[in-house]
Amino acid sequence: MVKKIAAPEIERLIQLLGRLPGLGSRSARKAALALLKRRQDLLIPLAQALNVAAEKLSECPTCGNIDTVSPCTICQDPRRDPTLVVVVEEIGDLWALERAGVINGRYHVLGGHISPLDGIGPDKLNIASLVARAQAGEVKELLLALNATVEGQSTSHYIAQQLQGTSVAISRLAQGVPVGGELDYLDEGTLAAAIKSRKRV
Ligand SMILES: [Zn+2]
Repeated sequence: MVKKIAAPEIERLIQLLGRLPGLGSRSARKAALALLKRRQDLLIPLAQALNVAAEKLSECPTCGNIDTVSPCTICQDPRRDPTLVVVVEEIGDLWALERAGVINGRYHVLGGHISPLDGIGPDKLNIASLVARAQAGEVKELLLALNATVEGQSTSHYIAQQLQGTSVAISRLAQGVPVGGELDYLDEGTLAAAIKSRKRV
């Protein structure tokens, strides 16, 4: 039997931390130790922040984002252009686009992509609410910012089909050479996509 080195409360803390993405059991121990050593300035504020988040979290009824206010902060922000809606698969994608600081519209979070092999059809995603939102009149452009994977692209295609005949303009992210990327290191698919979507200079 493995000898225990700490009381069950601390073992539980390590075990829970170890479930976070990117943290293995070794990193979880390191994180737990950092928390235990910094009770006042890290452990207690973190515990309080977790508690507040756990109590107040809800999914935004408009866009599918998760926030502690409803509708979410982005949907409530009057400075954002309500005519542009950027469609993403996951909240992490929304955060990534916000970090880039180039979007001044609102979002729609699908909650994944269509994947028949995993039993995920359009009805399991926030697609019906997207179509209703697009048809309500305020939205003029939908930017489909889905992953450049087979599933992401077929989900984009499905959404575009659902909105055929409406007056909403549908656009997609360009595909191609990443900023700072060297051609020699790109895979054939990326190079082919970059050549296909070439622009005049
Ligand atoms: Zn929202």
